Amino acid sequence: MAQLQPATAAYGDLPPELDDPLFRQALGQFDQVVERADVPPAVAEVLRYPERSLSASIPVRLDDGSLAVYPGYRVQHSSVLGPTKGGVRYDEAVTLGECAALAMWMTWKCALLGLPYGGAKGGVRCNPRALSRAELERLTRRFTSELLPIIGPQRDIPAPDMATDEQTMAWMMDTYSMQVGHAVPEIVTGKPLSVGGSALRPEATGIGVVTVVEEAVRRLGWGLAGTACVVQGYGKVGGVAAHELAVRGAQVVAVSDIGGGVYAPSGLDLAHVDGWRLEHGNLSGYRSAEVVTNAELLELPCDVLVLAATENQVTGANADRVSARLVAEGANGPTTLEADAILGEREIPILPDILTNAGGVAVSYFEWVQDIQRLFWGPDEIRTRLGDLMRRAVERVWTLSEEEGVPLRRAALVLSIREVAGALTARGIYP
Ligand code: NAD
Repeated sequence: MAQLQPATAAYGDLPPELDDPLFRQALGQFDQVVERADVPPAVAEVLRYPERSLSASIPVRLDDGSLAVYPGYRVQHSSVLGPTKGGVRYDEAVTLGECAALAMWMTWKCALLGLPYGGAKGGVRCNPRALSRAELERLTRRFTSELLPIIGPQRDIPAPDMATDEQTMAWMMDTYSMQVGHAVPEIVTGKPLSVGGSALRPEATGIGVVTVVEEAVRRLGWGLAGTACVVQGYGKVGGVAAHELAVRGAQVVAVSDIGGGVYAPSGLDLAHVDGWRLEHGNLSGYRSAEVVTNAELLELPCDVLVLAATENQVTGANADRVSARLVAEGANGPTTLEADAILGEREIPILPDILTNAGGVAVSYFEWVQDIQRLFWGPDEIRTRLGDLMRRAVERVWTLSEEEGVPLRRAALVLSIREVAGALTARGIYP
């Protein structure tokens, strides 16, 4: 096997477009484990940065006839293990650096689960709540057109993320298919069933989160029955996770969304919460439980705190007031490096994002495989395969964490970075 020589020239300071707090967080995590993962310096230097990034300006005709232009991005971190894979988000905080961090985490997540993918991420900086459905469709189709040179079923396969859903994926699939002249369902995952989506994909991330939590509490000797859970972010991940926790016997005592949080120490009526959100859009104004702010929600006394909203939620400023016994990262990057250290000192274990929310990309992989084969599996088969994958990953991470006496995040990163670094070393650097 070819040995790469040590790096002779470092990349130097971060280029301004990557100089983003979230990318620094991802790099900080990488740097913490790279030595333990036994990665040669030259290989580490390659893996520290994204392979390819695209920035585009997305002009959109608004319903009133005016034109707005939104910044859009797609970052591919590594294609060493296969085509890149990752979500598309619509959010006012989207930057190239944020996408680069999320793309890097996707690489580690796929490797940890043994999926033949690298990581990517993309998004458009906009306020999706201020756009009509027709405007969102035009935005999505134009964004997809801008991505055409770099996406493809064997190159880069988008999926839903914050404020995007199966309708967004159907528009992306249709736009791509119109360009190539035939239906290409395998270009995106998270599509509706009617256009080649997979059973259980909408629920996959939330179910995966709860599978990891259940495995963790079993190993900690508590079990899920009666466990008091707080869920921040009642969206595609957190909403499903809250229901799945309740189904498996836990007690969901508080949830929140962009409109605020609600708390009932004896357990929330989730069906009632769903009804309110369906009618009003978010939790603002909900009065059938105690109202708490999102900041207060993170500090509520509970057994398990599920972070399923967005990044940068538990920080150096509030980590010492988190009152949970276990933190589960349903969202990507919700705990800063500083908070990681504080929770570590307080002996509050963190179930890391690259393990905990990997159920989404696992079933996305199943969807892609089914699309390529034009052969579809039933929900029971997918649930079994998902459960097996997630439990195997927890087992590997937990074992390494115990063997080496390191936090779960470090163990997960060591396992995945080793995998990618090994493949890169074997392939070598082209030319
Ligand atoms: P979503 O848009 O469906 O849900 C996000 C939820 O969080 C919404 O209810 C929103 O109102 C709420 N929210 C946003 N900011 C908040 C804040 N500051 N405080 C409280 N609530 C807030 O998005 P999603 O797909 O559920 O993604 C949530 C997180 O999970 C993101 O970090 C995403 O990258 C990650 N993730 C998603 C998937 C997936 O399959 N959708 C897979 C892996 C990871």
